[in-house]
Amino acid sequence: MKRGICLLLFISLIIACIPVNCSASQSEPQEKRIALTFDDGPHPRQTRQILDVLDKYGIKATFFVIGVNVRNYPGIIAEVQARGHELANHTTTHSHAKKLDSIALKNEIEACDQAIFEQTGKHSKLFRPPEGAMTESMRTVVKQLGYTSVFWTLDTRDWAHTPPDRISDYIIQNAKNGDIILMHDYIGANSPTVAALEGFLPILLEKGYTFVTAGELLSNSHQ
Ligand SMILES: [Zn+2]
Repeated sequence: MKRGICLLLFISLIIACIPVNCSASQSEPQEKRIALTFDDGPHPRQTRQILDVLDKYGIKATFFVIGVNVRNYPGIIAEVQARGHELANHTTTHSHAKKLDSIALKNEIEACDQAIFEQTGKHSKLFRPPEGAMTESMRTVVKQLGYTSVFWTLDTRDWAHTPPDRISDYIIQNAKNGDIILMHDYIGANSPTVAALEGFLPILLEKGYTFVTAGELLSNSHQ
């Protein structure tokens, strides 16, 4: 009789466990990772405000810096690094890269890297051409220098002074796993960038997105 009860208990335990295991595998969380990128800084006007918003939400991002700004604002680039963000190369003078021959482009990239290295002790590995313009010969130079080119999948158009709520709605409606979002930490007066971040970051975090650097996103997608 006792053996019968034990058997019954054993069978009911197995039955009870099966749906639990099934539902566990069905509810595996889908990966939802996004990289935020900021171009054209560092600059006293917006970079620190952006760093404060990123800290508020515990987010690390990638800053594609201009060599001239790195030299002009060493304290700010030091802060970007100290607060745990990734620094990447966006040329020295932001010349439209299509106007540069191979030697000039090489100089632009190397001088920017030198400025980053002098301020932070680290070399840049990622490169984004100004305005995302890239020719075949440029591609060759970038590759020869050992850089990975990074573009974007979502353009916030903050550079065109798009109102913050429009940027925020656009990102909330279109964000998906693997996106690279283009923003700027130097635009000029009346930048919508900080207000837009305050609009969409809490919503995307609530939807389960995590924010990683562009380097982390790309290294993971290559595996
Ligand atoms: Zn730029």
